[in-house]
Amino acid sequence: MKSRALQLSRDWIKAERVRRFDKLQVGKFTCKIDKALPNEHMTKVYNSLSREEAGILSQLRTDHTPLNSNLARIGAEESANCTCGTVVESIQHFLFYCPKWRSERNKLREAMADRWGDLAYALGGWSGRRDRRTGKFVDGKQERWKPNVKVLKAMIQYVKDTKRFQPKATAMGEAEVVEEAVAQEIGERDEVGGSL
Ligand SMILES: [Zn+2]
Repeated sequence: MKSRALQLSRDWIKAERVRRFDKLQVGKFTCKIDKALPNEHMTKVYNSLSREEAGILSQLRTDHTPLNSNLARIGAEESANCTCGTVVESIQHFLFYCPKWRSERNKLREAMADRWGDLAYALGGWSGRRDRRTGKFVDGKQERWKPNVKVLKAMIQYVKDTKRFQPKATAMGEAEVVEEAVAQEIGERDEVGGSL
């Protein structure tokens, strides 16, 4: 049986992590697309990526992208609409639907298969959705969640292929936010260590 003191310190660490994560505004969107947070499941993923790839992933996971939906929100762009027509250039629109990137999208579509269009899945998140028939979580148990690295890599490659994130990303003055978001997702491992 676990000792009470050990249990208490674990509870405290957990509460502290939740508190710090909440303090960051960027955590809000991230928690929406990844209900398994905060947890260490993204650490391995980030560690397996190059700096550029990690940057792309964290921009998407925190909704701080060079897409017009975000640029309009921070006042860097007048319209949130995509140049393809009259719809908002949201992350979903960019990843799954924008007709400008049909051919670039092929591999991502293949990797996601029947989860196509599922934003949480595309960004490595545990969606918390249940299967209508079985009532079970579509992503399995929250504590055992592991992002699909093949999907994440295909998604990042897609972003690279569209060149839509360059070079505006760094010109936006959001580099720090992104850095902080990555640190937040990766850094927790260093502080809590492998003891949990
Ligand atoms: Zn579009």
